[in-house]
Amino acid sequence: MAIKAEYIWIDGTEPTARLRSKTRILADGASTTPADLPIWGFDGSSTNQAPGDNSDCVLRPVAVYPDPIRGGDDVLVMCEVLLIDMTPHPTNNRAACAEVAEKFADHEPLFGIEQEYTFFKDGRPLGFPVGGFPAPQGFYYCGVGADEVFGREVVEAHMEACIEAGVGLSGINAEVMPGQWEFQVGPLSPLEVSDQLWVARWLLYRIAEEFDISATVEPKPVKGDWNGAGAHTNFSTKAMREGYDPIIAACEALGTKAEEHVKNYGHGIEDRLTGAHETAPWTEFSYGVSNRGASIRIPWQVAVDKKGYIEDRRPNANMDPYVVTRLITDTVCSAAL
Ligand code: ADP
Ligand code: MN
Ligand code: MN
Ligand code: MN
Repeated sequence: MAIKAEYIWIDGTEPTARLRSKTRILADGASTTPADLPIWGFDGSSTNQAPGDNSDCVLRPVAVYPDPIRGGDDVLVMCEVLLIDMTPHPTNNRAACAEVAEKFADHEPLFGIEQEYTFFKDGRPLGFPVGGFPAPQGFYYCGVGADEVFGREVVEAHMEACIEAGVGLSGINAEVMPGQWEFQVGPLSPLEVSDQLWVARWLLYRIAEEFDISATVEPKPVKGDWNGAGAHTNFSTKAMREGYDPIIAACEALGTKAEEHVKNYGHGIEDRLTGAHETAPWTEFSYGVSNRGASIRIPWQVAVDKKGYIEDRRPNANMDPYVVTRLITDTVCSAAL
Protein backbone atom coordinates (compact mmCIF):
# COMPACT_ATOMS: atom_id res chain seq x y z
CA MET A 1 0.00 0.00 0.00
CA ALA A 2 1.15 3.55 -0.64
CA ILE A 3 2.79 5.22 2.38
CA LYS A 4 1.46 8.49 3.74
CA ALA A 5 4.25 10.69 5.10
CA GLU A 6 3.13 13.70 7.12
CA TYR A 7 5.84 16.35 6.66
CA ILE A 8 5.85 18.63 9.72
CA TRP A 9 7.71 21.94 9.97
CA ILE A 10 7.97 25.12 12.02
CA ASP A 11 6.74 28.27 10.30
CA GLY A 12 7.74 31.94 10.51
CA THR A 13 4.81 33.31 12.51
CA GLU A 14 5.90 36.13 14.80
CA PRO A 15 6.37 36.50 17.68
CA THR A 16 5.82 32.76 18.21
CA ALA A 17 6.28 30.21 15.43
CA ARG A 18 3.54 27.66 14.73
CA LEU A 19 3.50 24.13 13.33
CA ARG A 20 2.45 23.29 9.77
CA SER A 21 2.18 19.96 8.01
CA LYS A 22 1.13 18.37 4.74
CA THR A 23 0.96 14.87 3.39
CA ARG A 24 3.14 13.26 0.77
CA ILE A 25 2.20 9.91 -0.75
CA LEU A 26 5.15 7.60 -1.26
CA ALA A 27 5.30 4.38 -3.24
CA ASP A 28 4.51 1.09 -1.54
CA GLY A 29 7.67 -0.17 0.18
CA ALA A 30 9.54 3.16 -0.07
CA SER A 31 12.30 3.63 2.50
CA THR A 32 11.33 6.12 5.18
CA THR A 33 14.69 6.87 6.79
CA PRO A 34 15.38 10.64 6.95
CA ALA A 35 18.16 10.30 4.39
CA ASP A 36 15.97 8.37 1.91
CA LEU A 37 12.85 10.50 2.21
CA PRO A 38 12.56 13.07 -0.56
CA ILE A 39 13.34 16.72 0.04
CA TRP A 40 10.11 18.67 -0.46
CA GLY A 41 8.99 22.28 -0.76
CA PHE A 42 6.21 24.62 0.27
CA ASP A 43 4.83 28.08 -0.30
CA GLY A 44 6.78 30.24 2.14
CA SER A 45 4.61 33.26 1.35
CA SER A 46 1.76 31.58 3.23
CA THR A 47 3.84 30.89 6.35
CA ASN A 48 5.69 34.21 6.78
CA GLN A 49 8.85 32.57 5.45
CA ALA A 50 9.19 34.08 1.97
CA PRO A 51 7.91 36.91 -0.26
CA GLY A 52 5.22 36.00 -2.82
CA ASP A 53 7.47 36.67 -5.81
CA ASN A 54 10.14 34.26 -4.54
CA SER A 55 8.10 31.91 -2.43
CA ASP A 56 9.74 28.49 -2.48
CA CYS A 57 11.17 27.07 0.74
CA VAL A 58 12.70 23.63 1.16
CA LEU A 59 11.73 20.91 3.64
CA ARG A 60 14.48 18.51 4.65
CA PRO A 61 13.47 15.47 6.75
CA VAL A 62 15.49 15.24 9.98
CA ALA A 63 13.59 12.70 12.09
CA VAL A 64 10.93 10.08 11.34
CA TYR A 65 8.36 8.49 13.66
CA PRO A 66 5.66 5.85 13.08
CA ASP A 67 2.36 7.70 12.59
CA PRO A 68 0.14 6.63 15.53
CA ILE A 69 -2.96 8.20 13.98
CA ARG A 70 -2.91 6.69 10.51
CA GLY A 71 -1.03 3.57 11.60
CA GLY A 72 0.37 0.94 9.21
CA ASP A 73 3.57 2.00 7.50
CA ASP A 74 2.60 5.69 7.58
CA VAL A 75 5.06 8.10 9.18
CA LEU A 76 5.41 11.52 10.76
CA VAL A 77 8.39 13.35 9.30
CA MET A 78 9.91 16.20 11.30
CA CYS A 79 11.60 18.59 8.88
CA GLU A 80 13.89 21.59 8.98
CA VAL A 81 13.35 24.52 6.64
CA LEU A 82 16.08 25.48 4.16
CA LEU A 83 16.49 28.17 1.56
CA ILE A 84 16.70 26.97 -2.04
CA ASP A 85 20.51 27.11 -1.85
CA MET A 86 20.17 24.42 0.89
CA THR A 87 21.41 26.70 3.68
CA PRO A 88 19.29 27.05 6.85
CA HIS A 89 16.31 29.40 6.52
CA PRO A 90 16.46 32.33 9.01
CA THR A 91 13.53 30.72 10.91
CA ASN A 92 15.44 27.43 11.23
CA ASN A 93 16.65 27.31 14.85
CA ARG A 94 17.56 23.64 14.61
CA ALA A 95 20.73 24.23 12.62
CA ALA A 96 22.37 26.34 15.36
CA CYS A 97 21.24 23.84 17.99
CA ALA A 98 22.84 21.02 15.99
CA GLU A 99 26.13 22.92 15.86
CA VAL A 100 26.28 23.48 19.62
CA ALA A 101 25.17 19.91 20.36
CA GLU A 102 27.98 18.62 18.14
CA LYS A 103 30.57 20.95 19.68
CA PHE A 104 29.77 19.79 23.23
CA ALA A 105 28.79 16.19 22.49
CA ASP A 106 31.57 14.90 24.78
CA HIS A 107 29.80 16.59 27.74
CA GLU A 108 26.83 14.30 27.01
CA PRO A 109 24.12 16.91 27.71
CA LEU A 110 20.65 15.55 28.52
CA PHE A 111 17.34 17.41 28.72
CA GLY A 112 13.93 16.59 30.18
CA ILE A 113 11.32 19.20 29.24
CA GLU A 114 8.01 19.66 31.08
CA GLN A 115 5.57 20.99 28.50
CA GLU A 116 2.57 22.71 30.09
CA TYR A 117 -0.43 23.60 27.94
CA THR A 118 -4.09 24.57 28.15
CA PHE A 119 -7.17 23.18 26.44
CA PHE A 120 -9.71 25.63 25.02
CA LYS A 121 -13.28 25.06 23.91
CA ASP A 122 -15.83 27.68 22.80
CA GLY A 123 -13.32 30.47 23.42
CA ARG A 124 -12.58 29.67 27.07
CA PRO A 125 -10.34 27.24 28.93
CA LEU A 126 -11.90 23.79 29.17
CA GLY A 127 -13.70 23.59 32.52
CA PHE A 128 -14.33 27.33 32.77
CA PRO A 129 -18.07 28.16 33.03
CA VAL A 130 -19.73 30.49 30.50
CA GLY A 131 -19.08 34.15 31.38
CA GLY A 132 -17.32 33.45 34.68
CA PHE A 133 -14.64 31.63 36.56
CA PRO A 134 -14.41 28.21 38.21
CA ALA A 135 -13.53 27.73 41.88
CA PRO A 136 -10.05 29.14 42.64
CA GLN A 137 -6.91 27.08 42.16
CA GLY A 138 -6.14 24.51 44.80
CA PHE A 139 -7.54 21.10 43.88
CA TYR A 140 -6.92 20.89 40.15
CA TYR A 141 -3.20 20.00 40.22
CA CYS A 142 -2.96 16.20 39.88
CA GLY A 143 -6.67 16.09 40.71
CA VAL A 144 -9.25 13.38 40.14
CA GLY A 145 -13.00 13.65 39.57
CA ALA A 146 -15.29 15.41 37.12
CA ASP A 147 -15.35 18.62 39.20
CA GLU A 148 -11.56 18.94 39.03
CA VAL A 149 -10.41 17.32 35.80
CA PHE A 150 -11.16 18.53 32.29
CA GLY A 151 -9.92 16.88 29.10
CA ARG A 152 -8.48 13.65 30.44
CA GLU A 153 -9.76 11.68 27.42
CA VAL A 154 -7.61 13.87 25.17
CA VAL A 155 -4.60 13.58 27.46
CA GLU A 156 -4.83 9.79 27.52
CA ALA A 157 -5.15 9.60 23.73
CA HIS A 158 -2.18 11.94 23.33
CA MET A 159 -0.03 9.93 25.74
CA GLU A 160 -0.87 6.71 23.87
CA ALA A 161 -0.03 8.35 20.54
CA CYS A 162 3.32 9.69 21.78
CA ILE A 163 4.33 6.27 23.07
CA GLU A 164 3.31 4.61 19.79
CA ALA A 165 5.29 7.19 17.84
CA GLY A 166 8.38 6.51 19.93
CA VAL A 167 8.42 9.94 21.58
CA GLY A 168 10.42 9.60 24.80
CA LEU A 169 7.64 10.68 27.13
CA SER A 170 8.44 10.39 30.85
CA GLY A 171 5.02 11.30 32.25
CA ILE A 172 1.90 13.48 32.28
CA ASN A 173 -0.05 15.34 34.97
CA ALA A 174 -3.00 17.68 35.44
CA GLU A 175 -1.87 21.22 36.28
CA VAL A 176 -2.85 23.99 38.67
CA MET A 177 -5.51 25.68 36.51
CA PRO A 178 -8.59 23.83 35.17
CA GLY A 179 -7.99 22.59 31.61
CA GLN A 180 -4.23 22.91 32.09
CA TRP A 181 -1.98 19.87 31.71
CA GLU A 182 1.65 18.87 31.35
CA PHE A 183 3.62 16.19 29.59
CA GLN A 184 7.35 15.57 29.96
CA VAL A 185 9.76 14.53 27.22
CA GLY A 186 13.21 13.19 28.02
CA PRO A 187 15.85 12.87 29.28
CA LEU A 188 17.31 13.00 25.79
CA SER A 189 20.05 14.80 23.85
CA PRO A 190 19.42 18.42 22.76
CA LEU A 191 18.31 17.55 19.21
CA GLU A 192 16.31 14.46 20.17
CA VAL A 193 14.39 16.21 22.93
CA SER A 194 13.68 19.20 20.69
CA ASP A 195 12.57 17.20 17.63
CA GLN A 196 10.39 15.02 19.84
CA LEU A 197 8.89 17.94 21.76
CA TRP A 198 7.81 19.56 18.49
CA VAL A 199 6.31 16.27 17.29
CA ALA A 200 4.56 15.80 20.65
CA ARG A 201 3.07 19.30 20.29
CA TRP A 202 1.89 18.45 16.78
CA LEU A 203 0.28 15.23 18.05
CA LEU A 204 -1.40 17.18 20.86
CA TYR A 205 -3.02 19.67 18.47
CA ARG A 206 -3.93 16.92 16.01
CA ILE A 207 -5.51 14.62 18.59
CA ALA A 208 -7.36 17.42 20.40
CA GLU A 209 -8.80 18.29 16.96
CA GLU A 210 -10.61 14.91 17.01
CA PHE A 211 -12.37 16.00 20.22
CA ASP A 212 -13.21 19.43 18.82
CA ILE A 213 -10.92 20.95 21.45
CA SER A 214 -7.90 23.16 20.83
CA ALA A 215 -4.68 23.10 22.82
CA THR A 216 -2.40 26.08 23.26
CA VAL A 217 1.07 26.72 24.67
CA GLU A 218 0.10 30.34 25.35
CA PRO A 219 2.18 31.24 28.48
CA LYS A 220 -0.48 33.27 30.29
CA PRO A 221 -3.81 31.95 28.94
CA VAL A 222 -5.88 33.59 31.68
CA LYS A 223 -4.90 36.94 33.16
CA GLY A 224 -5.09 37.44 36.91
CA ASP A 225 -4.70 34.94 39.72
CA TRP A 226 -4.24 31.87 37.55
CA ASN A 227 -0.99 30.02 36.91
CA GLY A 228 0.76 30.62 33.64
CA ALA A 229 2.11 27.79 31.47
CA GLY A 230 5.82 27.07 31.43
CA ALA A 231 8.27 24.57 30.01
CA HIS A 232 10.60 23.79 32.90
CA THR A 233 13.79 22.53 31.34
CA ASN A 234 15.75 19.92 33.29
CA PHE A 235 19.37 19.63 32.35
CA SER A 236 22.48 17.63 33.12
CA THR A 237 25.90 16.90 31.72
CA LYS A 238 27.91 13.78 32.41
CA ALA A 239 29.91 15.71 35.05
CA MET A 240 26.69 16.93 36.73
CA ARG A 241 25.37 13.36 36.84
CA GLU A 242 28.55 12.39 38.68
CA GLY A 243 29.19 15.22 41.16
CA TYR A 244 27.87 18.31 42.92
CA ASP A 245 30.50 20.94 42.08
CA PRO A 246 29.49 20.84 38.40
CA ILE A 247 25.84 21.33 39.48
CA ILE A 248 26.73 24.55 41.31
CA ALA A 249 29.04 25.61 38.47
CA ALA A 250 26.15 25.17 36.01
CA CYS A 251 23.88 27.40 38.14
CA GLU A 252 26.59 30.05 38.40
CA ALA A 253 27.23 29.93 34.64
CA LEU A 254 23.52 30.39 33.92
CA GLY A 255 23.57 33.41 36.25
CA THR A 256 26.18 35.15 34.10
CA LYS A 257 23.95 34.96 31.00
CA ALA A 258 20.55 35.41 32.66
CA GLU A 259 19.36 38.27 30.49
CA GLU A 260 20.26 36.61 27.18
CA HIS A 261 18.49 33.42 28.26
CA VAL A 262 15.29 35.07 29.46
CA LYS A 263 15.02 37.12 26.25
CA ASN A 264 15.03 33.87 24.26
CA TYR A 265 12.81 31.74 26.50
CA GLY A 266 9.50 32.56 24.79
CA HIS A 267 7.47 35.63 23.92
CA GLY A 268 5.55 37.21 26.79
CA ILE A 269 7.88 35.88 29.50
CA GLU A 270 7.64 39.14 31.48
CA ASP A 271 3.93 38.47 32.03
CA ARG A 272 4.57 34.98 33.37
CA LEU A 273 7.75 35.42 35.44
CA THR A 274 6.25 37.94 37.83
CA GLY A 275 7.46 36.45 41.12
CA ALA A 276 3.97 35.07 41.85
CA HIS A 277 2.52 31.65 40.90
CA GLU A 278 5.67 29.64 41.59
CA THR A 279 7.95 31.83 39.48
CA ALA A 280 10.98 34.03 40.09
CA PRO A 281 10.79 37.57 38.66
CA TRP A 282 12.35 37.67 35.19
CA THR A 283 14.60 40.57 36.24
CA GLU A 284 16.35 38.62 39.02
CA PHE A 285 18.42 35.44 38.77
CA SER A 286 18.44 32.98 41.66
CA TYR A 287 19.02 29.30 42.35
CA GLY A 288 18.29 27.10 45.31
CA VAL A 289 17.56 23.61 46.58
CA SER A 290 13.85 22.68 46.36
CA ASN A 291 12.99 26.33 45.68
CA ARG A 292 10.06 26.69 43.26
CA GLY A 293 10.37 30.45 43.61
CA ALA A 294 13.89 30.44 42.14
CA SER A 295 14.98 30.73 38.50
CA ILE A 296 16.84 27.43 38.83
CA ARG A 297 15.77 24.70 41.23
CA ILE A 298 18.14 22.01 42.45
CA PRO A 299 15.78 19.09 43.25
CA TRP A 300 16.14 17.96 46.89
CA GLN A 301 17.13 14.45 45.85
CA VAL A 302 20.00 15.95 43.85
CA ALA A 303 21.21 17.87 46.92
CA VAL A 304 21.03 14.64 48.94
CA ASP A 305 22.77 12.47 46.33
CA LYS A 306 25.27 15.24 45.56
CA LYS A 307 24.78 14.64 41.82
CA GLY A 308 22.04 14.68 39.18
CA TYR A 309 20.48 17.60 37.30
CA ILE A 310 19.06 21.10 37.62
CA GLU A 311 15.68 22.54 36.61
CA ASP A 312 15.58 25.83 34.72
CA ARG A 313 12.08 27.04 35.63
CA ARG A 314 12.11 30.10 33.41
CA PRO A 315 11.25 28.89 29.89
CA ASN A 316 7.71 29.70 28.77
CA ALA A 317 5.38 27.02 27.43
CA ASN A 318 5.70 28.69 24.00
CA MET A 319 9.50 28.47 23.90
CA ASP A 320 11.41 26.89 21.04
CA PRO A 321 13.30 23.89 22.45
CA TYR A 322 15.99 24.24 19.76
CA VAL A 323 16.78 27.69 21.18
CA VAL A 324 16.50 26.82 24.87
CA THR A 325 18.58 23.64 24.72
CA ARG A 326 21.21 25.40 22.60
CA LEU A 327 21.56 28.28 25.05
CA ILE A 328 21.75 26.07 28.14
CA THR A 329 24.22 23.65 26.54
CA ASP A 330 26.40 26.51 25.28
CA THR A 331 26.38 28.52 28.53
CA VAL A 332 26.99 25.60 30.89
CA CYS A 333 29.44 23.64 28.74
CA SER A 334 31.47 26.72 27.67
CA ALA A 335 31.97 27.58 31.36
CA ALA A 336 33.04 24.02 32.09
CA LEU A 337 35.81 23.90 29.46
P1 ADP B 1 8.65 18.50 38.53
O1 ADP B 1 8.84 17.94 39.90
O2 ADP B 1 9.42 19.77 38.34
O3 ADP B 1 7.22 18.63 38.13
P2 ADP B 1 8.81 16.43 36.43
O4 ADP B 1 8.74 15.06 37.00
O5 ADP B 1 7.60 16.98 35.78
O6 ADP B 1 9.39 17.44 37.57
O7 ADP B 1 9.95 16.50 35.32
C1 ADP B 1 11.26 16.16 35.58
C2 ADP B 1 11.98 15.91 34.27
O8 ADP B 1 13.37 15.81 34.52
C3 ADP B 1 11.56 14.65 33.55
O9 ADP B 1 11.30 14.95 32.19
C4 ADP B 1 12.79 13.77 33.67
O10 ADP B 1 12.92 12.93 32.56
C5 ADP B 1 13.90 14.82 33.68
N1 ADP B 1 15.17 14.34 34.20
C6 ADP B 1 15.38 13.38 35.13
N2 ADP B 1 16.70 13.17 35.30
C7 ADP B 1 17.35 14.00 34.45
C8 ADP B 1 18.72 14.26 34.15
N3 ADP B 1 19.71 13.62 34.77
N4 ADP B 1 19.01 15.18 33.21
C9 ADP B 1 18.03 15.84 32.59
N5 ADP B 1 16.72 15.65 32.83
C10 ADP B 1 16.37 14.74 33.75
MN1 MN C 1 6.41 18.70 36.21
MN1 MN D 1 4.21 21.78 35.89
MN1 MN E 1 9.00 21.44 37.12
